[in-house]
Amino acid sequence: MAEVLVLVEHTEGDVKKVTLEMLTKARELGEASALFIGAGYDTAAALLAEYGAQKVYVAADPDVASYIGAAAEVLAHVVTTSQPAAVLTSSAAPAREAAARAALRTGGGILTDVVDIEAGFVGRQDVFGGATVVKSAVTAGTPFLCVRPNALSASPAPCESTREDVTVALSEAAKTAKVVERVTEAKSGRPELGEASIVVAGGRGMGSGENFSLVEELADALGAAVGASRAATDAGWYPHQMQVGQTGKTVSPQLYIAVGISGAIQHRAGMQTSKTIVVINKDAESPIFELADFGIVGDLFTVLPALTAEVKARK
Ligand code: FAD
Repeated sequence: MAEVLVLVEHTEGDVKKVTLEMLTKARELGEASALFIGAGYDTAAALLAEYGAQKVYVAADPDVASYIGAAAEVLAHVVTTSQPAAVLTSSAAPAREAAARAALRTGGGILTDVVDIEAGFVGRQDVFGGATVVKSAVTAGTPFLCVRPNALSASPAPCESTREDVTVALSEAAKTAKVVERVTEAKSGRPELGEASIVVAGGRGMGSGENFSLVEELADALGAAVGASRAATDAGWYPHQMQVGQTGKTVSPQLYIAVGISGAIQHRAGMQTSKTIVVINKDAESPIFELADFGIVGDLFTVLPALTAEVKARK
């Protein structure tokens, strides 16, 4: 079976969920392998094997993690030597950049923001906020597909994984930009938005940044992450990195609770694949109700405290 190579998305060996989603898809399309760049392989190894990475190429040289252009050269090297049928990377900016450069170096083609991959490595992209579906295939060389986090589902398929160390002599061009500092964002104590199984998101209906404490209280009672619509982040009520939607994060939790959000197409693009959607909105005509599995027509300032109290009471 042809090898399908997944570029592991991780922080010091802490593997991101999108990697598991890509490995699951890679197994469907061929034999899954993975490329791990940087430090922390020992932390990641068991999880990569659990999700079916038959072979893991490891490029642990510290230079490789330090230079912006290095990942592309390592990826291009592995593609040239192992000739995978396709390469999957996350759509996050660094991975996407590495994929683009590696595709150029190896004479392949690239598809970005892919939300599904069909036989023949046909990538599906949802454009215009999900209003139009485009299916594309790379027509020359190795296809590189950059996958949006949370678009695919992940399921384990444990295997014996073999490690193959990769050493690449970096070109001078790869060393022209260096990472000089990495600052880890202060953790809120809540799950990461893109990985959470429950998300409570607030919109313009919250009325102010202070009122987001109501969303946070419900989120904490449920062990959920907090999200926000663009109207709320643009107003400065909540940090931009918590924005859900076309120009924010794509989430696909088991439960998504939309509070004071109208359901604009650009917001839907980032949450419509959630398994169960609960809506709290005072306007029964609001388009978000079209997506709702359960809806509460009411004032959020009444509903949210009551809901939070009920969740706490049942714990
Ligand atoms: P509104 O549309 O104003 O809705 C507020 C809702 O709150 C209403 O339905 C109202 O009935 C309800 N409400 C008000 N008060 C209460 C109350 N007391 N109790 C209960 N309900 C109440 N948007 C995103 O979210 N994410 C994106 O990534 C994104 N990307 C965009 C990209 C582009 C190129 C463009 C053009 C737009 C983008 N937008 C995005 C913006 C999007 O079009 C909408 O403007 C935005 O989603 C609206 O946010 P909202 O639903 O919070 O606000």
